[in-house]
Amino acid sequence: MPELAPYAVHPGRSRGRRFPEPAPETRNEFQRDRDRIIHSTAFRRLEYKTQVFVNHEGDHFRTRLTHSLEVAQIGRSVARNLGLNEDLVEAIALAHDLGHTPFGHAGQDALNECMRANGGFEHNLQSLRVVDVLEQRYAAFDGLNLTFETREGILKHCSATKARELGDVGERFLRGARPSLEAQLTNLADEIAYNNHDVDDGLRSGLLTLEALDTVPLFGRHRTAVSAAYPALAGRRLVHETVRRMINALVSDLTARSRQNITASAPASVEAVRQAQPLVAFSPEIAEQQQALKAFLRAHLYRHHQVNRMMSKARRIVRELFAAFSSDPRLLPADFQSRVEQEGLRAVADYIAGMTDRYAIREHRRLFSIDEV
Ligand code: MG
Repeated sequence: MPELAPYAVHPGRSRGRRFPEPAPETRNEFQRDRDRIIHSTAFRRLEYKTQVFVNHEGDHFRTRLTHSLEVAQIGRSVARNLGLNEDLVEAIALAHDLGHTPFGHAGQDALNECMRANGGFEHNLQSLRVVDVLEQRYAAFDGLNLTFETREGILKHCSATKARELGDVGERFLRGARPSLEAQLTNLADEIAYNNHDVDDGLRSGLLTLEALDTVPLFGRHRTAVSAAYPALAGRRLVHETVRRMINALVSDLTARSRQNITASAPASVEAVRQAQPLVAFSPEIAEQQQALKAFLRAHLYRHHQVNRMMSKARRIVRELFAAFSSDPRLLPADFQSRVEQEGLRAVADYIAGMTDRYAIREHRRLFSIDEV
């Protein structure tokens, strides 16, 4: 591994785990976090959870699993160039979406609505809950017992009330402090990944057209350059070449601008990073162009009527599952029944949030169709 900068998180200086453990022998603390995440049940479920396109709509669309791998890839290459800790970035990236419900944001919104009187539901907090509590595979503790730094990176945002409940990782929201540069970076790598793969998946599905996307400067600029260099190029290959150039341009801009910010602020330690303004950032021009792309995707893809139809079904499935389980917990598997006795509706929310898209669809059918068992 290349040498870590003084402002990077050093594995030897971790703030540690909630349950102290002997130092790992063959890897560092953040590599151990990453390995625990990869071996978790929630991680395997990411393969069958989606955001825009439901899993059965096609084999080539991104899933939460491939999305998380893309975030890790983008994050690690920027980290390497900035002297940041690649292992920590990788661990945060692979864990950041573990708390997502089935059917992406539609599922989350429905579950949040169902849980309104009981503390609500938020996927980001749920990701932390998965690694802190819900994964049960170690004899000595609940959860994966990850380091403070990985947990801090997973918790991107948080209300003041929740921050007080959460203790150590909530603290920075009350103090108005920043997380590590590795956490800041993973957050923006997430943005680069989904903006680009949603363009790609949107075109593949036919819900977006090249003509419409050409009006978005970030895309149009690269598409025009590709067509000028390769006039005969068309179809998927034209899309791939354009998207690859977009990702490259965003990664280069993020690296250059962040390096400039870091040089100007010259933080001597992670503590200095926490007190500084956010240092991992796009240039203002590119940030603005990313916003324009996001606005385009919202209007033309996320709110496309075909997507709306699927999401409306998704919300209905989640609402009806919640209504059935909360009015009669005896419909739940035995272990969740006893959890409802102890934790009330939070256990119902955990059960539904843990479902993959296809499991939720099947479970809904099993509960509501008389022909299914
Ligand atoms: Mg994400």
